[in-house]
Amino acid sequence: MKILVYAEVRNGKLKSTAAEMLTEARKLTNNNTENIHAVLLGEGCSAHAQTLAAYGAGKVFVVETPETNTYQCEPHIQTISQLVQNNGYTLVLGPASPTGRDFFPRLAVRHKAGMLTDVVSVKNDSGKIVARRPIYAGKCIAEVCSQTALTFVTVRPNVIPSEIFNSSASAATEKFTPNFNASAFKSKIADVRKGKSEKPDLTEASLIISGGRAMGNADNFKILHDLADIVGATVGASRAAVDSGYAPHDMQVGQTGKTVNPNLYMAFGISGSIQHLAGMRTSKVIVAINTDPDAPIFQKADYGIVADLFQAVPLFKDELKKITDA
Ligand SMILES: Cc1cc2nc3c(=O)[nH]c(=O)nc-3n(C[C@H](O)[C@H](O)[C@H](O)COP(=O)(O)OP(=O)(O)OC[C@H]3O[C@@H](n4cnc5c(N)ncnc54)[C@H](O)[C@@H]3O)c2cc1C
Repeated sequence: MKILVYAEVRNGKLKSTAAEMLTEARKLTNNNTENIHAVLLGEGCSAHAQTLAAYGAGKVFVVETPETNTYQCEPHIQTISQLVQNNGYTLVLGPASPTGRDFFPRLAVRHKAGMLTDVVSVKNDSGKIVARRPIYAGKCIAEVCSQTALTFVTVRPNVIPSEIFNSSASAATEKFTPNFNASAFKSKIADVRKGKSEKPDLTEASLIISGGRAMGNADNFKILHDLADIVGATVGASRAAVDSGYAPHDMQVGQTGKTVNPNLYMAFGISGSIQHLAGMRTSKVIVAINTDPDAPIFQKADYGIVADLFQAVPLFKDELKKITDA
């Protein structure tokens, strides 16, 4: 099995999904890293080649053409397509991020290949690619199998724990210049406007403080932002809070929001529905603050506090300030 991993780079930063996919690729090849290639796209991306080697990439293609600096669907498709044609991969892994979700299915159509989306694990079953993906809000896991010789797979971020293979490994790096057919470029990114927050995105954050319906209104979310600022945490929200207009959708954690995997997840006034848990259950430590001692979130929480969040938040703020000021 020969695997290509699309290692996503955004704003010059390598996404952690690359390490997760390379870890999975190593399992599929029994650590035969010669058969694991990775591709980096964007200006200055070669700086990440060493990291990819440490996670098991035997070869790294570096594509630093102007067309691929900012994500655009068609140049990305043409680049990966040409690498697939040149190198005869059987499996191409990409993240189930907005970028991967956008262009991987199109790639699969172009190659008349199987497409398995949003998977949480991949295995090689006598030469066939079999993957597992959550369905029905994470209540069931479906096993899906590709029927084609070449398969494209998008992997859900923050589910597969990444493991370093060899921190001093260095990959063979190869500069790749795609032969673009510019007449097929049907759209162009005219402008990219950054969001206001300088904090890490929820999917990359190691500390997350989330609020639920109990926040009551958008203004009340300010107390969570103030608390988060003390420790550099990113603020998340339940879908009920988002649907009520208290927080924007990009803050939503859960099955129809973001999957997160922080070291610490604090849930203020969140009941712990199965759909919310689907997005944060792998957090290393979960702290729940809820007035209802029977709230389902307490079954998942490492630390549970039965309290009114409006009383608990100022107490947390004072204590965290003491620690950070010390
Ligand atoms: C197809 C589908 C997809 C979905 N996707 C998602 C998703 O991605 N993410 C998601 O979150 N949900 C999702 N949902 C919705 C989910 O089912 C729940 O409705 C939602 O998670 C509930 O949000 P909540 O816990 O904030 O609100 P509630 O369930 O209303 O819970 C509020 C909690 O706050 C507590 N509380 C009240 N006052 C206070 C106070 N002063 N202090 C402390 N605690 C207090 C209450 O005891 C209660 O436990 C989805 C649903 C469906 C059907």
